[in-house]
Amino acid sequence: MDQVYNFSAGPAALPKEVLTEAREELLNYRGIGFSVMEMSHRSADFAAIINEAEEDLRVLLGVPDNYKILFLQGGASLQFAMVPLNLMKKHRRADFIHTGYWTKKAYLEAQKFGEAEIIASSEDKGFTYIPDITRIAVNADTDYVYICANNTIYGTRFTAFPDVKNKPLVADMSSCLLSEELDVSRFGLIFAGAQKNIGPAGVTVVIIREDLIDDNALEGAPTMLRYKTFSESNSLYNTPPTYAIYICGKVFKWLLREGGLKRRGEINRAKARIIYDYLDESRLFKGFVSRKDRSMMNVTFGTGNKDLDEKFVLEAKKRGLTNLKGHRSVGGMRASIYNAMPIEGVKRLVDFMREFERDNYV
Ligand SMILES: *Cc1c(COP(=O)(O)O)cnc(C)c1O
Repeated sequence: MDQVYNFSAGPAALPKEVLTEAREELLNYRGIGFSVMEMSHRSADFAAIINEAEEDLRVLLGVPDNYKILFLQGGASLQFAMVPLNLMKKHRRADFIHTGYWTKKAYLEAQKFGEAEIIASSEDKGFTYIPDITRIAVNADTDYVYICANNTIYGTRFTAFPDVKNKPLVADMSSCLLSEELDVSRFGLIFAGAQKNIGPAGVTVVIIREDLIDDNALEGAPTMLRYKTFSESNSLYNTPPTYAIYICGKVFKWLLREGGLKRRGEINRAKARIIYDYLDESRLFKGFVSRKDRSMMNVTFGTGNKDLDEKFVLEAKKRGLTNLKGHRSVGGMRASIYNAMPIEGVKRLVDFMREFERDNYV
């Protein structure tokens, strides 16, 4: 098939331009005679790659000078443990806003290190909305407040962030970082597994306020699980995922070339609007989540009929619209429309949905 639009939730589509550039440099990186994969992580060439990636990400997101950017391994899931290990310093307590599968995992992990408390939850309605953040009460002695900014599985997102007073706000942004502008200074720590909206699997971006990186990690915390280890070594304590970092760097440059995150936000809002507008008028398809909390990155919907949903996913695939099956815990369909999904892909999807509705709505 010539043109396939990949709606995978992750690992997800990467920009064609980035892959084409990587192909050109694959065997011989800029005349050095071998590939980035074969390069020492201590070489000057790799230093340039990782330093530029960090600098470009800093510019792209407007990361303030008092924040460190780290490139780690272990996926977003390792942060579920690293965050409490490093941040539950004073009171050994953390407050959680529970919005689904990923906050549950983070909450359970935090409980191993201290007292984790759910201070707001949307479990009562199957995580189809975001709890009212104006009504949350943060514990006075919590070490931080934890959220998942975009809930990849359900298709909800925080459109505004809670005011947690002087407590650090920690956000899992695995499926939304770089989708639009962001005020990093609102957060103590942001992390994101790269494989959704940033780059290939294997690297996790952590953006952390410097005052949170002292050596107060819980006693016995392994060296490899201390933020300090990586902030002091420029993410080069041990061998980092060099090729993944190289590709992320190319994605950052692509985003900068394409007009940065302000422009990216406009494009992503336009993309999401095309699908949601259609869902609002469709008689066959219904969106799964509360309108005010709709994700810009993961659109969940269905017909209410399991067999028809399956037929839709199968027929879509034949048209080059692939990976539309919803998460097993939610069912129906999910269209993940991260940065690398062009607006044409979204239009093609909606055209097909209209056609499918015409042929199947009775
Ligand atoms: C995918 C995802 C994760 C898990 O990422 P891994 O890198 O596989 O550990 C965590 N949180 C969110 C919001 C995700 O979308």
